[in-house]
Amino acid sequence: MCPVKNNDSVEDITDKDVYALWSKTENLRLLSTSGGVASSISFKLLMENYATVGAVYSRDYTRVFHEYCDTIYKIFDTIGSKYVQSNFSIGFKKALSDKNNKYVIFGTPCQIIGAKNVLKKLQIDELNYYLIDFFCHGIPSYILWKAFIDDLNSKVGRIYSLNLRFKDTDWHEFKIRAIGKNGVYLKKFSKDPFGKLYLSNYCLRNTCYTCRFNKFSAADIRIGDFWGEFYEENKMGVSIVLPITEKGFDLIIKSKDIEVESVPSNYLFGSQLIKEGKRFPVPPNNDKVLEDLKKGLSLKAIYKIYFFKNDIKRLPLKLVKGLLPKKYIKFVKKAIRWIRK
Ligand SMILES: Cc1cc2nc3c(=O)[nH]c(=O)nc-3n(C[C@H](O)[C@H](O)[C@H](O)COP(=O)(O)OP(=O)(O)OC[C@H]3O[C@@H](n4cnc5c(N)ncnc54)[C@H](O)[C@@H]3O)c2cc1C
Repeated sequence: MCPVKNNDSVEDITDKDVYALWSKTENLRLLSTSGGVASSISFKLLMENYATVGAVYSRDYTRVFHEYCDTIYKIFDTIGSKYVQSNFSIGFKKALSDKNNKYVIFGTPCQIIGAKNVLKKLQIDELNYYLIDFFCHGIPSYILWKAFIDDLNSKVGRIYSLNLRFKDTDWHEFKIRAIGKNGVYLKKFSKDPFGKLYLSNYCLRNTCYTCRFNKFSAADIRIGDFWGEFYEENKMGVSIVLPITEKGFDLIIKSKDIEVESVPSNYLFGSQLIKEGKRFPVPPNNDKVLEDLKKGLSLKAIYKIYFFKNDIKRLPLKLVKGLLPKKYIKFVKKAIRWIRK
């Protein structure tokens, strides 16, 4: 069932139609990572007796696993991106436990290919399930996740709520918000040591560095964040959605809670980094960072050892950014690049 060895059912997504979507329920959209499409679909399908198999945190936030969600309350826990590997088999096994179960499964492209292989092998009727994957940056290792949760625990005490894509001003400027027994931690994702490491591709699972599935999918629908200039002015969140199968297309079109805008298909390349083969190189000192984390070094210490120097180098640009109007920054960046050559 390995997705790398058995992937006959994948399709190239680059020739699919592209849509911008968001939930018409504003609160749902605000709680979600981008447009709130995932949970909107879950709620619509729940009314048609489809459960959701989606990722939820364990009570202490140290693990993530897929849960079989057959109530509104359980679906709420699936909302939001969790940047660590989810134990997929827990929810998936529950879904498979009864042949008549109907469900929608959310997951990384590789999880969805694996799920499809199993569903096909068991000859489960295709009308009983929907498969939804997302554009995937990669999944951080639990070594990094443990250091992150330890760090949060030291700041806020026992965690009651964690949102890695908190939108308080603009969804493009997303923050980490942890509410705990002793207080609240709120920091721009890109400024937090965990966020910095993740966005610079540190400590991902080994397979993520060579993953081919950003361009291929075995799902009915591929979803993601509508990055790029097209929805730059939007503050609430917009999802990019590519229906892969007819079943997937019907699901979106018939959903009354979802606002749909058809966009030119080349918008895909302005929103997502679609690359074949090796996606990005393993960053320098990745092994050393992992070793140091295993030894128990804090994220703050890791940041000081491996990133502080680079950040200092970028300081002049940061200062200029703070002072100049947006339209001049592009030219300054070009000039700096030219000088550095
Ligand atoms: C690890 C990870 C990397 C991502 N990388 C990108 C990217 O590079 N570019 C991009 O455009 N979008 C990426 N996404 C997808 C994006 O963050 C949103 O999930 C997507 O835009 C849908 O947003 P939403 O508002 O509809 O729903 P959300 O509320 O975000 O819905 C989340 C759905 O994702 C599932 N989910 C959450 N965490 C996990 C997990 N760890 N494993 C499996 N399923 C999970 C939940 O079950 C839920 O159904 C990534 C998501 C994750 C979890």
